[in-house]
Order: sequence, then structure tokens, then C-alpha cells
Amino acid sequence: MTESLKWLQCPVCKETIYWNIPDNAMEDVKRFPAPIVVKHQDHYLIVYIDSHYQIADTEVATACVEGKSKSE
Ligand SMILES: [Zn+2]
Repeated sequence: MTESLKWLQCPVCKETIYWNIPDNAMEDVKRFPAPIVVKHQDHYLIVYIDSHYQIADTEVATACVEGKSKSE
């Protein structure tokens, strides 16, 4: 599988983000669009990609910053 470089305009700070989908990230995905979390500076985005690895939708995930799991 070829590495696919994507770009999008961050809906939070309006900067252009370049990112790519890890090769093995989509192996277990059965349904599309599939959400991928992209960290950008101090905020997170949820990018939905379709089966052709095109961006279908973008969401701002503000709650993600505080949603750490406890691992004790
Ligand atoms: Zn940003």
C-alpha cells in the first residue's frame, strides 16, 4: 500500500495540516467513513475518510484533550 499524504485546513486555527494515514490503520476497518484522530498542536481533530482514503468530513474533538483513560 502506498503512503497517502493528506492535507486539510484545521477548523480550529485555520492552518494547513499535512498528515498521512498509517499503512496498517485501515486493515480492520469494515465500514466507511472511518474516523481517524489527528492531533494538531493542543487540539484534536476527527477526520472521517471514505473507502478511497478521501476525506469525507472533519470534526473538532475538544473533549478528547481531557478524555484520558486511567491505567492503574
Ligand atoms: Zn489546528
